Amino acid sequence: MPHLHLDASDREEAEELRRRMRWEAEILSMNDRIAQENRDYLAGVGAVAFNVIGSPGSGKTTLLEQIIRLLGREHPIAVLEGDQETDLDAERIRRLGVQVFQINTGSGCHLDARMVGRSLPRLDLRPGSLIFVENVGNLVCPALFDLGEHAKILVTAVTEGPDKPLKYPHIFREAHVLALTKTDLLPHLDVGLHAYVENARRINPHLVIFPVSSTRNLGMRPLLDWIVRSARAERVAFSGA
Ligand code: MG
Ligand code: ZN
Repeated sequence: MPHLHLDASDREEAEELRRRMRWEAEILSMNDRIAQENRDYLAGVGAVAFNVIGSPGSGKTTLLEQIIRLLGREHPIAVLEGDQETDLDAERIRRLGVQVFQINTGSGCHLDARMVGRSLPRLDLRPGSLIFVENVGNLVCPALFDLGEHAKILVTAVTEGPDKPLKYPHIFREAHVLALTKTDLLPHLDVGLHAYVENARRINPHLVIFPVSSTRNLGMRPLLDWIVRSARAERVAFSGA
């Protein structure tokens, strides 16, 4: 081991790093507190929220559109749309006759619990409401910020390649469900479905994986069943508490 000598600027750098880590820890613990408030609010209403995460272009909005078409008749659905700019996705959801509120984060690259907490009262929620929070497209920091959701649904398209779980393990570990989208494009790719499933399972053995094509309406039923079942279990859990 070489002898490590810290000069003044190294010490300053180390101190700066410690300060930044303390600051990040404070932000995350404040976020967790507000996420708990959101959870209590939702439990009070009897609504269940899903945090929909994934990279830009993975098909989050298209998947939500299909979920709304297939579930919207039997279940009250509301959507919070997170994007840096524009309300293009909110407009797509609104066209399906579902209530939606747009959150623009500006330069922010993820939603946090405070943004969601401020937006929830804008939705007309009732017992049994399913809320889908579409996070900002990003495979990194949405993994860190609890929004008060019941579960995280990670959306990854097969066109993103099977290496994503290995490159972005944190978000795959945090997710409860993986919607593996655009499976209709698999015939055009060099790899089969098993490569995606294998890598995702290697990072998170508990991940529930649903291969789907939203545009072709393939494989949607098992995902819808999971959403409805887990929302019901959550409502039973908080009404019994
Ligand atoms: Mg979108
Ligand atoms: Zn971020």
